[in-house]
Amino acid sequence: MKIHEYQAKKLFAAYGIPVEKHLLCETPAEVRTAFKELGSRTAVVKAQVLTGGRGKAGGVKLVHNEEEAFKQATAILNMEIKGLPVKKVLLSEAVDIQSEYYVSFTIDRNTRSIILMLSASGGMDIEEVARLNPEKIQRFIIDPFIGLPDFLARQYAFTLFKEVENVNSMVVILQSLYRLFVEKDVSLAEINPLVLTNKRALIAIDGKLVFDDNALYRHPDIAALNEPTEEERTEAYARSCGFSYVRMDGSIGCMVNGAGLAMATMDLIKLYGAEPANFLDIGGSSNPRKVTDAMQLLLADPKVCVVLINIFGGITRCDDVAQGLIQAFEMLKPTIPIVVRLTGTNEKEGRALLAGKQFFIAQSLEEAAQKAVNLFNELP
Ligand code: GDP
Ligand code: MN
Repeated sequence: MKIHEYQAKKLFAAYGIPVEKHLLCETPAEVRTAFKELGSRTAVVKAQVLTGGRGKAGGVKLVHNEEEAFKQATAILNMEIKGLPVKKVLLSEAVDIQSEYYVSFTIDRNTRSIILMLSASGGMDIEEVARLNPEKIQRFIIDPFIGLPDFLARQYAFTLFKEVENVNSMVVILQSLYRLFVEKDVSLAEINPLVLTNKRALIAIDGKLVFDDNALYRHPDIAALNEPTEEERTEAYARSCGFSYVRMDGSIGCMVNGAGLAMATMDLIKLYGAEPANFLDIGGSSNPRKVTDAMQLLLADPKVCVVLINIFGGITRCDDVAQGLIQAFEMLKPTIPIVVRLTGTNEKEGRALLAGKQFFIAQSLEEAAQKAVNLFNELP
């Protein structure tokens, strides 16, 4: 789970990491008032969206007076950055930057530990640096039993700074960020840039925190900050129905019982030249309620043009599934083509029930996938 910069900065401040003065605003008028309240000669208007690269997208602007702040806030609040609408902006006191650094803690699966990454080439081009000059980013493996005691924090801080004053500030920042990382079950804690100002202070002017979803139950304060995207909401809804559901970019909606069968179904759709719209494992049981829920989920996705239902009747009897399908479809009355393949226990009875209805019936998986792809290709 990601949180916004302003939320990350609140946690930074609580853990003793210096951040610049800032105010959160939702309208250009609020930004105008905030400019006065900030009492700084220059300020920065920053889009609050759950993605990086805001600077390059025009979502971070330096402003010198109330009117400019109002104008830039109007522009930024009308923007979309990487498909995400900007609903809030941060008005931050502008700082005089001498140099920009990159600091992050993340989990490295190869070494099975937390690693600290540091670079003196921080700022908006860090991705470029990582690609073209990876040697400019240092990586330190943290032993979980030792953590980040003073001597190590100093050693790492000295790789970026010569002045003892800066090293001392850096030690506090490293240890605070590490403590935040561990205590809040963070999977990525990043300060980019951490800046050295002309007054020789170190300040985190941007922050990113990603939390481990599986540990959120231990942190209700963090979980409360969640702002799920449309897609995440749909996936959470699917989980609450007892499904595993992953949305994809194709056009053929799949409803399958069993994860392996669901993957095989997707493979065949691709083999015959189309793309699946989702992975959906509805699990066992032929409860009509389940079929209805699953169908609703598929129909709610505007990309779905054809539905392929592939059910293997083991303990689940195919005639029960057929009954479920009929009930569900009487309720939902879908208008798109639906291909059904039922196999296993009582498959003949199941198919007989579906005969003469709106479904396209298939016997083998190949036939079903091919049929679904053909129906898709025939669509206007
Ligand atoms: P990002 O592009 O989403 O990572 O947004 P950042 O908050 O990191 O801002 C992008 C860049 O804007 C930073 O790397 C800085 O160079 C610049 N910037 C941000 N805040 C200030 C500020 O207060 N003063 C100055 N001079 N530059 C700033
Ligand atoms: Mn940044």
